[in-house]
Amino acid sequence: MANKRPHLESDIVTHASINAASHIYVVSAPSGTGKTTLNRRLIAEHPQIKLSVSHTTRAQRVGERNGDHYWFVTPAEFQALLDKHAMLEYANVHGAYYGTSLPEVERIQGKGCTVLLEIDVQGWLQVHKKIPSATALFIVPPSMLTLWKRLSARKTDTPEQTWKRFRNAQAEIAQCEYFHHFIVNDVLEAAYEELENLLVKKIAPLLSPAQGLAHCRKLLQEFDADPQIQQLKVQYGASSTALPR
Ligand code: ADP
Ligand code: 5GP
Repeated sequence: MANKRPHLESDIVTHASINAASHIYVVSAPSGTGKTTLNRRLIAEHPQIKLSVSHTTRAQRVGERNGDHYWFVTPAEFQALLDKHAMLEYANVHGAYYGTSLPEVERIQGKGCTVLLEIDVQGWLQVHKKIPSATALFIVPPSMLTLWKRLSARKTDTPEQTWKRFRNAQAEIAQCEYFHHFIVNDVLEAAYEELENLLVKKIAPLLSPAQGLAHCRKLLQEFDADPQIQQLKVQYGASSTALPR
């Protein structure tokens, strides 16, 4: 398809080209929480909401399609995009680069659709500076052990990579204060209803922001004190204090 190519050769654009009046939603979640599952269903059921396809330097997983899940690019190609100031935001996540291109956001807005950015907290903080009207939602697991089980069951990473993602989850949850809304993805159907309520019906999630922050603090305590997580730390030889809090 003609439009199925990364935005490598497009003209230089700036964030001034983004229509801030058309609403932009950012959905973040620690890896393994379920944001892909939830967001994919949302865009399938609501065609007026479009998920921005990010560029990444990480390896393509089995089953992932270029231009659908991500644009898979080399580090040099990613750097070329940065040199052209073609990225709305970017970050190094789990050792690879990920970023949202400005042409991708413009493409979605050009169709009159709502933009959904599935990005990490570093990316959200950059978007917030450029587009203060954007709304950010943090999807969180019911417990840290549940997150570990979901990450492990997915079988898309080696055990060491899974552990790295799990430890990064701690650092991401520690930045929960930057989000407007929180949804706990415990029962999938209930979490989906809350997501749909927020983006389609503009109804706030069940947890108030204060309750969301309290839940995140509980998760951080579990990371520090849950006996099964302490065993994992011994197994993978990593202390919990190595990450920023
Ligand atoms: P993310 O995109 O946040 O990394 P995924 O959507 O890939 O997470 O979900 C991680 C794993 O957890 C997948 O195997 C998915 O099927 C499963 N999962 C997601 N939500 C739930 C839920 N509410 N209950 C049980 N399993 C879930
Ligand atoms: P995964 O490798 O599991 O697909 O994604 C890993 C992490 O990268 C997730 O936390 C996801 O939110 C984040 N991510 C995906 N695309 C982008 C992006 O364009 N920008 C930023 N900042 N993070 C992204």
